Amino acid sequence: MMQLAFRPYGRPFRQPLHTAHGLWPQREGLILRFVDESGQASFGEIAPLPQFGTETLAQARAFCQQWPKRFLAKQILAIAETLPACQFGFAAGLRGVSHESANSASGSERPYGRLAALAPIDVCGLLPTGQAALTAWSMLWERGHRTFKWKIGVAAVETELALFQRLVTALPEPTQLRLDANGGLTPAEAVLWLTACDSVAGKVEFLEQPLPPDRSLDWLSTAAPDFTTAIALDESVATVHQLEQVYQRLGNAVVYVVKPAIAGFPHRLLDFCQRHPLDVVISSALETPVGRHAALHLAQQLWAAGIPKRALGFGVGQWFVDDWDTLDEVALWQNL
Ligand code: MG
Repeated sequence: MMQLAFRPYGRPFRQPLHTAHGLWPQREGLILRFVDESGQASFGEIAPLPQFGTETLAQARAFCQQWPKRFLAKQILAIAETLPACQFGFAAGLRGVSHESANSASGSERPYGRLAALAPIDVCGLLPTGQAALTAWSMLWERGHRTFKWKIGVAAVETELALFQRLVTALPEPTQLRLDANGGLTPAEAVLWLTACDSVAGKVEFLEQPLPPDRSLDWLSTAAPDFTTAIALDESVATVHQLEQVYQRLGNAVVYVVKPAIAGFPHRLLDFCQRHPLDVVISSALETPVGRHAALHLAQQLWAAGIPKRALGFGVGQWFVDDWDTLDEVALWQNL
């Protein structure tokens, strides 16, 4: 039998994150602590993104409050599909508990498992929105990043296109730029962006989620084939369930940006990606190191399974005020 405790967290951004969804002042979520009968603890994280169609934080908290005080690990498989961030938090938190606890000393807290170290070249650095990107890229470049993400769809399209021309001129070779509209463009604006991207061939890796999910699929099958710049979908494939549906329709005509922390059960995502030759970018949902560790573990399982290696969307540590990225999960829990 397992026991669950959970604590809420709030992590303010240094500056509110500006996307087409609006201004976002702080990341909020829940850290889960599971203890088995031998006293062994493990940790999980629920980091919902309701703007991507997941449960809200209030719904996740209510779910944890009604969860049985003592439970069997296999009970988590009954967590509903409408709670994808809870599915991830419970499943990632319980990973390996039952079979590992037999060999470990009782009363201890298991630290993170070992992950292969990530080189900056394997990680996409997030640039600040707007004009600040023109100077901010160089610090990330110095650290070794060669893939950058820039949020668009926030200011007037003419303003952003002018900044884009300056940014791609400034970025040295070999750099790949990901443009993320968070569904904030109209079809006409998306055509302007794709025209601009095609004109600097090779510098833009992809245009991510140009239109909102409810307008994307029809548009992709009509307008997008006229351009050579790749399109990536993110908000359209927030959960494994959505990924399965969109893949059936579009196959590998697009790149899929998957955030494990909101995608649902990790084993289901792994299984789907092993059975289909997806072109996938594994990305952060701006979770804490607890969820991040589990998401990166999954990314490494996917790479081991032969998924093509694109830079991970995890270059976000410098966006938070706190020092949590230097803490292990036990220290982080004690901080809450
Ligand atoms: Mg995105």
